Amino acid sequence: MSLLEVEDLTVHFKIRRGLTRKSIDTVHAADEVSFSLERGTTLALVGESGSGKTTVAHAILGLNKPQKGSIVFAGRDLLALSRGTQRTARRGMQVVFQDPYSSLNPRMTVHDLVAEPLRVGSEISGDALRERVVELLEMVGLGTQHLWRRPHEFSGGQCQRIAIARALALSPDLMVLDEPTSALDVSVQARILTLLHRLQIELTLSYLFIAHDLAVVESVASAVAVMYLGKIVESGPTATIFEDPRHPYTLALLASVPSPDPDRRSAGAALSGDVPSAIDPPSGCRFHPRCKFRMDVCDQEIPPLEDRDGRRIACHLPRDFDLSAEQEAARAARSTAVVEDRQRSRARPRGDETPVPKMPRRW
Ligand code: SF4
Repeated sequence: MSLLEVEDLTVHFKIRRGLTRKSIDTVHAADEVSFSLERGTTLALVGESGSGKTTVAHAILGLNKPQKGSIVFAGRDLLALSRGTQRTARRGMQVVFQDPYSSLNPRMTVHDLVAEPLRVGSEISGDALRERVVELLEMVGLGTQHLWRRPHEFSGGQCQRIAIARALALSPDLMVLDEPTSALDVSVQARILTLLHRLQIELTLSYLFIAHDLAVVESVASAVAVMYLGKIVESGPTATIFEDPRHPYTLALLASVPSPDPDRRSAGAALSGDVPSAIDPPSGCRFHPRCKFRMDVCDQEIPPLEDRDGRRIACHLPRDFDLSAEQEAARAARSTAVVEDRQRSRARPRGDETPVPKMPRRW
């Protein structure tokens, strides 16, 4: 059985105005989103800004209230439980946010930041608590010399390590990683990704990885779900989606990987225009105003998400429609970006962490 099974998850937000807080509109942030995550694996949710990735993650974490659907975590349907029982059941899932500086309280020491979830969610105290805090810091590559420092004394990479140690405190099964490396520079990103990979193997963690960097997604995820305007348009094993993308939005997303070489920027034109408003999403297929393959049926009928060619896909295009030219453009854009990314990484000085001042050791 999967560790996490999300079925038909729908999250709408009301826009209210005036003294009476009258509802004047509805934001369709996520509509009938379905996916599953196996134990010990990584599922990446990808898509442009406004596609609903973070809304789905927040619904799983209990930070917003879905209108419809189910979230089955470790065999229990969270949305069918009372609030108190939901809180207990969600101890098995933790989150790491994008910005390590704003996710840590600047007034607290590292010791208190990591000890806080243990004080709230476990029985341990005193020496056992300190030992557990040190153990968690060592798991993420920090040591006792860091215990009494505050977040402003650390680099971005070190702060993200503290955030990871804090997330590991209650021994979760699932970690929701909300763009955990996008605020870090390239060499630090690589170290954090290596750390996450090691922790996943050692602790059999499952990751729901939210990202827009497709090169990172390809290297860390075993499965990918592509979202557009609140809906999953294509999902499946990473190798299948990256080597043989079939949905026009996935193809455009892969072909739009930016390249610093001006001679290679033509591929970026694959995805033109902005994501339409989620307040009034387009009829039929939500991608139809930007899709170069749209047909008459596309703005009239919502394409169902169905199993096809080793993945799930929502598109009216016939199974044998020739997409080889677009697939080739997507592959070329990806390989160029990967080569240039490696060259940039090699050009950077190694060593991620900024020097930190020596502080007196208090225990
Ligand atoms: Fe394009 Fe139509 Fe497929 Fe939507 S359903 S992606 S508009 S071809």
